Amino acid sequence: MNRVFVIGSINVDILMLSDHLPEPGETIKAGSFYVYPGGKGANQAISSARMGANTTLIGKIGNDYFGSLIKDFIGKENLNSIIMYGQKTGMAFINVDKNGKNMISVFSGANNDLREEDLKDIKIDNSIIMLQQEIPMDTIEYVIKTYGRNNLIITDPSPINEINDFVLSGSDYITPNEVEASKLSGMHINSREDAFKASEILYKKYQTNIIIKLGSYGSLLNNGNEIRYFKPSTVNARDTTGAGDCFNGAFAAMLTKTSDVNKSIEIANMAAALSVTEYGAFPSFPYLNDVKTKFN
Ligand code: ADP
Repeated sequence: MNRVFVIGSINVDILMLSDHLPEPGETIKAGSFYVYPGGKGANQAISSARMGANTTLIGKIGNDYFGSLIKDFIGKENLNSIIMYGQKTGMAFINVDKNGKNMISVFSGANNDLREEDLKDIKIDNSIIMLQQEIPMDTIEYVIKTYGRNNLIITDPSPINEINDFVLSGSDYITPNEVEASKLSGMHINSREDAFKASEILYKKYQTNIIIKLGSYGSLLNNGNEIRYFKPSTVNARDTTGAGDCFNGAFAAMLTKTSDVNKSIEIANMAAALSVTEYGAFPSFPYLNDVKTKFN
């Protein structure tokens, strides 16, 4: 498998940094403001491309001003894209205060229009397909039914507004974070031991590889034979936005280069750790060379 396809969401993120978050009816002054592409699909694709994999992003944007911004940004990455047009471009408005607390509203827009008809003519074989849950669940089911047999599917059950057992058991890897793993397993995760237990519940339920992303505690893999813990790289964390997406993109990218899953997770941990040292989601995603230089 030497290619990665990401079928997922593309948004424009508008980020405002201020002292405190606004109360209802309050207008506050933002100290700074950024516009950049986001959406879990776009983020994971950019991470995979920066980590050196031949990557294609498939998704929908609006034929509008924000859509053209996305095309400009994506054009600067070493990324193939099959971008179609739907209603207005998906948007996220993000307010972050000086303590890193945030408030986010998301408008799904064109991401909600990505349907099975849009994928009918797209052939994908012998590749890695990455999914997240910001496009219609019917479309995700279609991807598993159509492409699941000849490809390796990595599903990030995020955001976890919906739990679809067909999708989860039809995936080759499920990659929840702690919150998502708690929801999926029905148990609170307060320690590494809890995370091990939750991974056992999830493995039993879905009979597939479980990777749990544990934030500053690193990550773990339960492949049914063993549970392996991957300790985090020690970094000075500033902003964890998009760390999980960076991890997934890097993991998929490494799997195109080696069949060593443990090594791929180790490198994904390093890439994601580097991403939390800088602000923003994709602007902080490292290139393979950054990871090699920092950790060798
Ligand atoms: P999500 O962004 O989905 O909530 P996490 O917060 O679990 O995901 O972060 C994803 C990965 O990023 C972790 O598994 C870990 O590898 C890395 N990571 C996150 N926070 C830190 C940190 N403070 N120090 C080192 N690595 C981190």
